Amino acid sequence: MLLDLSIRELQAGLAAKKFSSEDLVRKCYENIAREQPRTNAFITIVDKETALKEAKEKDAARTPSAPPLYGIPFVLKDSFATRGIRTTCASNVLRDFIPPYDATVYRRLREAGAILIGKMNMDAWGHGGSSENTDFGAVRNPWDIERVPGGSSGGCAAGVAVRMAAFAIGEDTGGSIRNPSAWCNTTGLKVTYGRVSRYGCVAYASSFDTVGPMGKSVEDCAAILEATAGNDLHDATSAPVPVPSYTAELAGAESFIKDKTIGVPRELFGEGLDPEIRASIMASIDVLKGLGMQVKELSMPLFDYGLPVYYLIAPSETSSNLARYDGVRYGGDRSNFTEETMRRIMIGTYALSAGYYDAYYRKAQKARTLFIAEYKRLLSECDVLVMPVNPTVAPKVGELMADPLANLLADVYTVSINPVGVPSLAVPSGFTKAGLPIGMQIVGKMFAESLLFQIGHAFQSETDYHTRAPKV
Ligand code: GLN
Repeated sequence: MLLDLSIRELQAGLAAKKFSSEDLVRKCYENIAREQPRTNAFITIVDKETALKEAKEKDAARTPSAPPLYGIPFVLKDSFATRGIRTTCASNVLRDFIPPYDATVYRRLREAGAILIGKMNMDAWGHGGSSENTDFGAVRNPWDIERVPGGSSGGCAAGVAVRMAAFAIGEDTGGSIRNPSAWCNTTGLKVTYGRVSRYGCVAYASSFDTVGPMGKSVEDCAAILEATAGNDLHDATSAPVPVPSYTAELAGAESFIKDKTIGVPRELFGEGLDPEIRASIMASIDVLKGLGMQVKELSMPLFDYGLPVYYLIAPSETSSNLARYDGVRYGGDRSNFTEETMRRIMIGTYALSAGYYDAYYRKAQKARTLFIAEYKRLLSECDVLVMPVNPTVAPKVGELMADPLANLLADVYTVSINPVGVPSLAVPSGFTKAGLPIGMQIVGKMFAESLLFQIGHAFQSETDYHTRAPKV
């Protein structure tokens, strides 16, 4: 199928006029017609004629030096501002909100010539790990529609998995790109904090929020990051760090990663981890060993404190960020917040209030500093850490919603990364006997995206998990 091709292959085919952008966009809408009723991955689908018109214009204006994403169809999590197209963040509070400006990531993709197909369903405000906490109906996992796709960027992962677009942009505060990538068998990158501008991305927890690529392969994610990363005058926390040519650096990845060391923190492979997932990650580590990488067992004694640190600081920041939805500026009033979001606003407000601030918020910030030191120490003993993305496979729809605590536990392996700020690449690592996808995280030092891509790319050159798509 056309949309199974990588971005590089698509670009080559477009340049050679084997097919057109119009063909690609038509294919997206064909897949949408078949898969949207099953998955409910979209909140807003761009009008087909509008997208086709754009594709035809791109086809007509194409030059031999067209940039890598020129004429390629993509989707955005519905947390990004898009001028003239509604941005709901999956909440009734913003049901009718039409932003007057574009998020930087969207502006850069448009400038690169990519074509927007739609805005994807998610957990409202990023609050969740299953894409069920949405006012637009739960998203379904295309590998088994009885199951959730993960979240909060679940619509993006489901959409890419069934090729309703060539790639997606998600947002990750505590796992929201990695978790649905793992459960839907797509590749996703949580970037270093500040690597990609957050301007125009609806804020969840501002000191954790990151904007990153979701695609069919590491190679695709490298191309997407190359087009979207970099300093931005509109976001003072975006880093003035030069953007390397991530795709060019993939050439020779195998020789570059040889002799690099993988750290495996033993606490992350203990109780609570599904044995099939453990076995799959261990087998994947063997593949990396086969590529010449060294493996070192390490210890992360702080691991258990990741969830409490995250679930104190993230609600604190969200309680402050969501204060702006006061019914005056954005339309829908606060009674529209879901129970999950109300719970977070209350926990956050409580943790920040006089008398409790020292006991909860300040203590969590101190523990966060310890986590930063812990990751620094671990990453001084190795080049990257490898760990699972989720402790279980995708649960059935309704399971996590019925048990808010289990919902938080689903993120046990992803949440401690964001308070630290380091990057983490989630790649398909295999399947369970029942045929459900499993993901692996490769975590690096600050701004080590190049190395993560090289390792992930070498891994995907040796394995075919990432090429498998759900039966449609
Ligand atoms: N599931 C986590 C939470 O609910 C992470 C969400 C995210 O990364 N946006 O906070």
